[in-house]
Amino acid sequence: MRLLSGAAGSGKTTYVLARFREALATGNTSVRLLVPTATMAQHLQNRLAREGFVFRRGQIQTLSGFLRPWTTDLPEVSPPVLHLLVEQAARRVARPEFERVTQFHGFCASLAKTIAEFASAGCDSARLAANLPEVPLGGAFLAVYEEVDRELRRRGLALRGRILTAAAERIEAGGLPGIATIWLDGFHALPDPELSVIAALGKHADLTLTLDEAELGEATLARLGALDFSEEQVRGTRTRNALALIKAPGIEREVEEIARRILRQVEGRPFREIGVIVRAPEIYAPILRATLDRFGIPARFYFDEKLERHPVIRFLAGAMDAMLGGWEHGATLAVLRLAPRFADFGVMDRFDFDVRERIPRSGLGELRSLLIDEDGQPRPYAERLLHKIDSLAALEEWRALELAPRDWAARFATLREIFKPARPADEITHELALQYRSQAAVLDLFDEALDEAAQALHGIRHLPLEDYWRAVKSILRLKPLRLEDGRRNVVHVMSAHEARQWVLPVVFVCGMVEKQFPKFHQQDPFFGDAARCRLNGSGIRVRTAAEFEREERMLFDAAITRATMLATLSYPEFDGRGERNLPSIYLEDLDLPAEDAVAVRPAPRARTGDSAPVEIRNAQLLEYMRHRTAQLSPTALETFLQCPFQYFTQRFLRLKTAPDRPEQRLDFLTQGNVVHAVLAEWWLEPQDLAALFERVFAAQLKEKCIPPGYHTERLRNAMLDDLRRFTSEDPWPKIAFRSQIETKFCFPLDDTVEINGRIDRLDTAPDGRTFVIDYKYSAAQRVKDKLKDASLLQAPLYMLAAQHLNLDAAGMYYVGVKGGIEYAGWSDHPLLESLGVPENWFDITRQRTLEIVRQIRSGRVEVHPADRESCRFCDSKDICRVETQPAAALVQLAEGS
Ligand code: SF4
Repeated sequence: MRLLSGAAGSGKTTYVLARFREALATGNTSVRLLVPTATMAQHLQNRLAREGFVFRRGQIQTLSGFLRPWTTDLPEVSPPVLHLLVEQAARRVARPEFERVTQFHGFCASLAKTIAEFASAGCDSARLAANLPEVPLGGAFLAVYEEVDRELRRRGLALRGRILTAAAERIEAGGLPGIATIWLDGFHALPDPELSVIAALGKHADLTLTLDEAELGEATLARLGALDFSEEQVRGTRTRNALALIKAPGIEREVEEIARRILRQVEGRPFREIGVIVRAPEIYAPILRATLDRFGIPARFYFDEKLERHPVIRFLAGAMDAMLGGWEHGATLAVLRLAPRFADFGVMDRFDFDVRERIPRSGLGELRSLLIDEDGQPRPYAERLLHKIDSLAALEEWRALELAPRDWAARFATLREIFKPARPADEITHELALQYRSQAAVLDLFDEALDEAAQALHGIRHLPLEDYWRAVKSILRLKPLRLEDGRRNVVHVMSAHEARQWVLPVVFVCGMVEKQFPKFHQQDPFFGDAARCRLNGSGIRVRTAAEFEREERMLFDAAITRATMLATLSYPEFDGRGERNLPSIYLEDLDLPAEDAVAVRPAPRARTGDSAPVEIRNAQLLEYMRHRTAQLSPTALETFLQCPFQYFTQRFLRLKTAPDRPEQRLDFLTQGNVVHAVLAEWWLEPQDLAALFERVFAAQLKEKCIPPGYHTERLRNAMLDDLRRFTSEDPWPKIAFRSQIETKFCFPLDDTVEINGRIDRLDTAPDGRTFVIDYKYSAAQRVKDKLKDASLLQAPLYMLAAQHLNLDAAGMYYVGVKGGIEYAGWSDHPLLESLGVPENWFDITRQRTLEIVRQIRSGRVEVHPADRESCRFCDSKDICRVETQPAAALVQLAEGS
């Protein structure tokens, strides 16, 4: 047996592949190349196939796959089933140490992980019992492990260590028919059961094992020496690649910079020659996925996704959970939204809004009633939705059943009937094909999860739906999803482990900060490092902190040597909370100057260009607009002044945003309504303010179904405090005036347009002077700012309205009530601090208003905000694409840099 050792990038894999190619070239079918993971195997298969070699898939495969024929009688327990068995075992042994945490998924996941690690190291519960180190949780852990081992034996299942040991014994005894040469490449830790397999293989075949020299501590060398390995060192001949380092202000800019550099690289090479290596996929994979997509860079991700997050599973699991929760409307609506062909269905949108406005409610009957008209007939186009609701209702009868696990699995398998994918369109894009393929794969995995749940519950005669479903959900939570993606010309995004067998011209290694690369080592909760060292002393080779650190370093060395030409490392200076990151300690040795990331955004896919202002030209529509603008309010006119498109979407199209959730309904508008209503009543008839406020507030809560809670209570107290302050400290000489409240007005501006609205308060002095008062439930500064905004029309139009009501309009005040009392206004007879009424204010306002009406009626609907800051509060911000042009400018900046 031969051991090939060498540093990362020294050419061990190159050497092995060269020998493997030579064998294939001579038609030798007795050679095998074994690697640790299925994706590595697939990558090498594809690589050699592309070079023109013809061979059976089995000639390059994983060690587990290779050993399977020797252990068909010992099925390996899957990780989700092991988790369920551990959960059940922990409950059965009921150790007091674990009493308060057994019900937590995370705790059982930790238990299962440590058990799997011990089993892989060849340490079953009996061996652990004989060598148990003294640790506080050691006894309790062992009790659960023994129970899990018993249960596995009872079910005829095995953990990896036992399977490897059995395979080694059988190979040693029976040989390797038809196999003469074996190469093992890409392995980095060799626990005892794997070593015993290697020893058995070496007895019957010419075996070569590659190992990184960083892995070769004294202990490993001694163990390999005892197995008669002869060591050969590989000294790389590959020229050293160039290294670069990028620092970016944050992770978003870091990933955008990687995208920008990839786009530069593809000017001279295909995407497939570029890789991105990620050590912290939970942080980087989602943002890389989104950013590369935004930049139009095709990428293949070699990561498992969470099965439970796939829309098909969210639909099926959501339907079951909604049923068990009594069809709460929010949950049921979310399920219906996930049903195929319902996401962009007009009737569904209206139904969605109707349901949201009524939340919180429950029951399918009430949902159905929203789709039925007064005559008991389905509303237009509502049949499909009614049909879907009926198919969900059919699940109700399951609640009464008690079935055996296998029968539940068979029944749940029919759930896929309620998920009917849409028919494929004529033009299938890659994304669409991937979507269809993923739906089919996920439905198969769902069936697999049902069987695994039945397997884990084996032995229970009958159980209710809830118990079986809980087991299925645990399995769905743990099951990985890896989708087939056969595209060739893509950027490869992979983990540091996966990358070890790749060689690409250009590689990016992102996230070079402490705790990400090197990864933070979390102590095992049951056996700390000292206990692990003692176990190693007893011959049980479980991982210690030192080994973890060594492996991290090895992964880093491997990552930066994957590129034949250029490896670019990158890190964000600040994390998501704005705190400074500590650059990775590994960067210190490289001593590279860091280049700053460039500000960049992708070019818009559909450029708008310098097109002429958008306007409506159709004569009928213009006539309709003229008709609809016969009466206008000052608020509507100010909306147009802020942005014609905002006015068009909100006043003409009457587009609505999705109704708020109950806890969000006490918004600024509703708070303002409460304050206005209280002040209107109190001003005319001063009374017990707290009682009045409670009455008005309670009516609003009831009308809008706003739930009680911390948020509601906080806002209630703030409003009441503001009102108390106003009613006790208001500087306005109330007694000197006669007041009219909530006065409606409508007056003509010319023959074609009238201005209408409602004034909060009109205060008339004995000499006839009248002041217009408008309450604002906003902060003092916002109220004061209105004095500086020359574009506002409300004040002069309200004063014009007062004149049309035959009053002597002497001034207008905005009164801010929130957090303090603020008067801001215009008056020629100042009572409180104010500006003078501007000269010709009413004539100018009349002309401006008529000009606005003319523009509206001429069909002007252009996206043209007067104040970009206010766009934050605009309901149309998601559809107007106001960001498009700055984005285009930024990409030019990047291209020119
Ligand atoms: S977000 Fe701004 S630009 Fe867009 S419609 Fe609203 S106001 Fe106009």
